Amino acid sequence: MKKTAFCLLTVFFAFPAFADFSLVRDGVSKCAVVRPKGADPAEIFAARELSAYLKKITGAEVNVLRRPDAQLYNIYLGTADNPDFKLPDKAKALISKLQYDGFALYSDETGLYIFSKEKRGVLYGVYEILKRYGGIRWIHPGENGEYCKEKKDFSIPNLAEADNPSFKWRCFNLIAAGAMKETRLWMVRNKMTPGRSFELYLDPALDAGYECFYRLIPDELFKTNPELFGLYNGKRMPQDGMARQPCTSHPETVRIMCENLVKILTANPKIKRFIIINNDSPSWCECENCKKLDTPDEAERGQVPTRYWTLINVLVKAGKAVAPGVDFFGTAYQTYHEYPGGVTPTRDAVFMPAYNARCYTHSLLDETCIHNARFRESLKKFQNNGMAVMTYNYYNFLPCMNRYYLPVSHRIAGELKMFHKAGHIGWMDEVLPYDGDFLKGRDSKMWQYNVLDMYIRVQFLWDVDADYDKVSEEAGNIYYGKAWPAMRLFRKKLIDLYENTNAHFSMESLMWEHGKCLTEYGSKEELERLLAEAGKLAEGDAELTARIGLDKEAFEKSFAGAYKKYVAEKMPSQVAAAKRTAKDDRDNLKYADHVSGLPMKLQFLYDDGNLYACHGAAGKGAVLELIVEEKKHVIDVEKAGMTAIPLDSVVDGGVCRVAATLTKEGRKFKWNGENSLSDSANTRLVSFGNLPCVVNGDFANTGKLERIRGSLSFAGPLKIEPDPTARIGKNVLRVQGTNGLLMAGLENLYGYSQNYWKPETYKGKLAIRFYARGDASFSLRFRDSLGWQKQWFEYNAPRSVQSPEWTKIEWIFDGSVLKGSYLSFLMVCSGKADIDDFQISKVQ
Ligand SMILES: [Zn+2]
Ligand SMILES: [Zn+2]
Repeated sequence: MKKTAFCLLTVFFAFPAFADFSLVRDGVSKCAVVRPKGADPAEIFAARELSAYLKKITGAEVNVLRRPDAQLYNIYLGTADNPDFKLPDKAKALISKLQYDGFALYSDETGLYIFSKEKRGVLYGVYEILKRYGGIRWIHPGENGEYCKEKKDFSIPNLAEADNPSFKWRCFNLIAAGAMKETRLWMVRNKMTPGRSFELYLDPALDAGYECFYRLIPDELFKTNPELFGLYNGKRMPQDGMARQPCTSHPETVRIMCENLVKILTANPKIKRFIIINNDSPSWCECENCKKLDTPDEAERGQVPTRYWTLINVLVKAGKAVAPGVDFFGTAYQTYHEYPGGVTPTRDAVFMPAYNARCYTHSLLDETCIHNARFRESLKKFQNNGMAVMTYNYYNFLPCMNRYYLPVSHRIAGELKMFHKAGHIGWMDEVLPYDGDFLKGRDSKMWQYNVLDMYIRVQFLWDVDADYDKVSEEAGNIYYGKAWPAMRLFRKKLIDLYENTNAHFSMESLMWEHGKCLTEYGSKEELERLLAEAGKLAEGDAELTARIGLDKEAFEKSFAGAYKKYVAEKMPSQVAAAKRTAKDDRDNLKYADHVSGLPMKLQFLYDDGNLYACHGAAGKGAVLELIVEEKKHVIDVEKAGMTAIPLDSVVDGGVCRVAATLTKEGRKFKWNGENSLSDSANTRLVSFGNLPCVVNGDFANTGKLERIRGSLSFAGPLKIEPDPTARIGKNVLRVQGTNGLLMAGLENLYGYSQNYWKPETYKGKLAIRFYARGDASFSLRFRDSLGWQKQWFEYNAPRSVQSPEWTKIEWIFDGSVLKGSYLSFLMVCSGKADIDDFQISKVQ
């Protein structure tokens, strides 16, 4: 334990004016810990922890006794129903107030009583006493993550309170490592539910199941009974670990799975939670009986929610019959995110959605996030079915499964409040532990990079009403010490950028997309300056310097690195303006891109008749000239403000062209430097609305066969060529030959990308427009994905150009003919021509 005199702590933990009962005085123990007869491992551990930490804090030896000592002040630990545990009459009223593994604290002259209904609750009560009256904090796992102020006296006031957690289940799913002793201890000390196979004194088999089909029907049966296993390409195959599923429509398979589930439950009566997930693979049995379970709609799209829940219903019924107190969890995962069309999921199961492609920038319940609309819809259906909910989260695995530096505790705290209000009973986060025997190649600094965020988020699992600023202020002071003033500002800025960038970060976001967070003018420099300042403040303190070093390293690797890539390769000439829908324009602006390229802050909003330039302060006498669709507007930008620019026509998903020049301190700044204001190279396309569309004015994002989401790639006789007579920007796309291919993944057009979902929004229409000159023909194809299969959809309406003048080519495509959920576009072009000003957008 770090015994530093953190004088700051006393500021945040006002001790009672005078304490009524002394546990330790002048370093001498005045108390004893009394553990009840027949104590459970959790209670034994609670007594040991209390005694050990009283000693760590005060130096006093506090004994753990089986019987009270009349000479001392006794601390009684136990569950309320233990006949050996005698509560004063006044304390008994607290019993009915206890919920889940909550605890009650009661003290009078006869002693301090820490009691609960669940045995684990006693332990949480002990930690509460140590935190509240001993000032101890466990900021991160391991001894150097412990903080407290040494003191000679430890006393408590009169207490009579029940303290319940906001969620029944407060979990991390620790992955990629074994052992993880310090991480697990940290979890219980921060009042989390112990994770699976928590072998340290506590409920060793509290948590069971997970991807468990292969354990419910072992592959050993394959030799004698191949018919119980999945049919793949006409052949029965064993599960081979988690590669495939068994044949879940075979009655004998189901019977064996139920039998084994019952065996596990009866052999391990301590199991309180059983999670039932398929073997971790989207391949399901292809036999006729299994396929018959899918509704036609599910079958068409390769989805299996009805199959999954048909099996779960039977398993949960069998499980509940022998273990009625166990919570059984059915999930939404892989190819069964949706609510089943052919069966009603049992209300005896807790619904645990693992929406791995959800957006984590916004809360799942935030109605303004388009990306999460499908997940909200699924969740609502399960909740309307009367099921309890515990979400499974991947906050720590974005972008693209990378362990990253993410300021997400603020978002999580807000989301937990919303989840609690919506009646959720639990929350689980997939986490790489702080310590442990990592599997080869899976070692990680994930937690080390995100110490403060890991700590802050879990405080809200116990108490969703905790004050975010207070929790983060206290933890920041402890962890960053004298460097906190700079780190506080750094974190505040980074959180603000992360949560207000016009992007939906999910497990599927690409690394460079996170660079978008630093597109606000001056933000990167400000963050770097604050980190440098923190480094200076930490000077002379090796431990603090190392901590700031971790932040620097993580920031450079992630946000700054992503930004560098973003600027170098992806900086778009298209920026999104956000619609003015919310009352507060700050809420609208989080869905507007920052316009880069000028030394000032600039974003756009729009409504039916106007474009609004929202700008930061650019300094004394600064003037911004905007040319919007050929009309010039001069805006005084000395101070921050918003200017309305009337527009003739605004269509959601459409675009307008804007050129800009900033005059500041006698200097002129333009988006593209050397060109004149009216030059196309100084023009940005401002799109109306947050619906991403493909717009490649200058082919800035176009790469040869490079797969970039939401932008174009090409193959064959196509070339990007600089041309002063370009329709827009500096470049044209030149076709010279036959079968040139221009491609784009359009998944982003609808704000989501995972190919598991029914594309309700495809019912709308798509406009594919560009300008061409020369002599060429063009035809369109779409690739439509049905579940895991892909198919090409031919769109037979060829277009051609035969003119030296820029000629508009356009298709209006009816998306409702598509059945899949992932749409790629492919245009075949042959001839000799130039293409420019390309865009794909949704039309009303
Ligand atoms: Zn089958
Ligand atoms: Zn979102």
